Amino acid sequence: MTSNSIAMTAPRPGPQSKLGTVCIFGTGDFGRSLGLRLLQAGHAVVFGSRSPENASLIPKEAQVFGHVDAAQMSRVIFVAVHRENYEFLGQFSSELAGKVLVDVSNNLKLDQYPESNAAHLQSLVPAAHVVKAFNTVSAWALQSGGLDANRQVYVCGDDYESKQMVMDIAHSLNLTALDKGSLLAAREIEDLPLQLFPLWRIPMYIATGLTAVLFLYCVVSDVVYTRVTKGNDNSFRIMISLANRVFPIVSLIMLALCYLPGALAGFLQLHNGTKYKRFPEWLDRWMLCRKQLGLVALALAFLHVLYTLIIPTRYYVWFNTYKYTVTQARENNTITFDYTRAWRGDSYLSLGILGFGLFVLLGITSLPSVSNAVNWREFSFVQSKLGHLTLLLCTTHTFLYGWSKFLMPHYYHFYLPPAYMLSLVVPCIVLVLKFILIMPCVDRVVMRIRQGWERKSVETPHWKDNKSSRPLVL
Ligand code: NAP
Repeated sequence: MTSNSIAMTAPRPGPQSKLGTVCIFGTGDFGRSLGLRLLQAGHAVVFGSRSPENASLIPKEAQVFGHVDAAQMSRVIFVAVHRENYEFLGQFSSELAGKVLVDVSNNLKLDQYPESNAAHLQSLVPAAHVVKAFNTVSAWALQSGGLDANRQVYVCGDDYESKQMVMDIAHSLNLTALDKGSLLAAREIEDLPLQLFPLWRIPMYIATGLTAVLFLYCVVSDVVYTRVTKGNDNSFRIMISLANRVFPIVSLIMLALCYLPGALAGFLQLHNGTKYKRFPEWLDRWMLCRKQLGLVALALAFLHVLYTLIIPTRYYVWFNTYKYTVTQARENNTITFDYTRAWRGDSYLSLGILGFGLFVLLGITSLPSVSNAVNWREFSFVQSKLGHLTLLLCTTHTFLYGWSKFLMPHYYHFYLPPAYMLSLVVPCIVLVLKFILIMPCVDRVVMRIRQGWERKSVETPHWKDNKSSRPLVL
């Protein structure tokens, strides 16, 4: 840092603008992108830099001064400097007294420092009003205008008026500002950009784990079994036949897992006799990732559809078809039309198509652009009522696929039940639980509880007994 940057000099006239002047400390990537966007929105911008004379890349409508000069021209100062370099601010903390310092900084990893960057900034400049904001917006998004995934600005700070000023600036840039409370929330806001698909992690683990286990199961009960008992090599079936067996199973189980926590929550509320008692944390977390569970399940259902559509093009399939036809012709066999089989086959396909269609509808409704356009009742109708109907259709589709196989011992290879039977366990549990919950006598009590009614004997009706989670609205 040069002495020039902190030396007190006579204030210079700042640029004029209806929206007021905004000061940015730091002429790096973020500072320049933010400056450009502020100028486009109609603000006047001044930069505070260690070396104003070398700041050649800044937008030409902006002006660059030493830090002190720049700070005098604006009430709001964005500190677009890395936290490691904040120390210089302490040297002219008296000039920054009363200013709104916006901390935009991020860290490289979680818990990198004992206190949040914003709290550190506040300790260096105690008389300023520090506001944490804009750290979730990238320099690239600011510059390119492609802000869809980066529109949200989380704001926190101890001074209400300062927060409001920063939120007004965010709104003027066409960003959405969300007040997260006092500066204590800064750590949480700083952690946001470091998170890598937090809600997707559990669904991805479940999908990967189930797929791996079921693939192994199918390889043993199909490929290994055929090799051991008949001496035939049908390992080629791994690529399509087994994939097309495993993906729908995992998809159906995951779809059921979307609805299981809702049913468990209903029974917990019945047991507790109140909705004001917290759910266990694992149930809370499970509830939060239901959308991601459903989307992963939908992706697997898509794969099932694709694999099914290419079945007629497979060499294995047409070879067997020709072989069968030729054998029948040679042996002069007459085959009769089996009505039961025709009904079963058509019903199986039809329910699969309907189930998949509704599944796609659920996926579409979970997109923010669609869910924002429907009211809560419509959303819950689709996600709950149609969701359970989807589960019912897909479960029946699987039942029809298996038909009477579960009664035939030769389908139990190595005494293992056919894989499709495994996929029915969780969906059947969910459907039975849901059936119990919608019975009028039970439904009436659940509805009353969800409207705030509490059973008299409830001892800990409010959320005081468990610090870890929050009350959940179903
Ligand atoms: P950068 O390109 O490295 O720029 C940092 C600026 O800080 C430099 O250009 C310099 O400006 C100033 N600086 C460097 N060393 C200094 C020192 N010892 N004392 C005083 N000032 C110093 O970094 P950036 O990408 O713009 O990031 C700036 C801040 O924004 C960081 O806290 C970062 O976490 C945050 N942020 C960045 C992004 C992004 O997409 N880049 C997104 C969100 C948040 P002068 O030479 O003009 O003094």
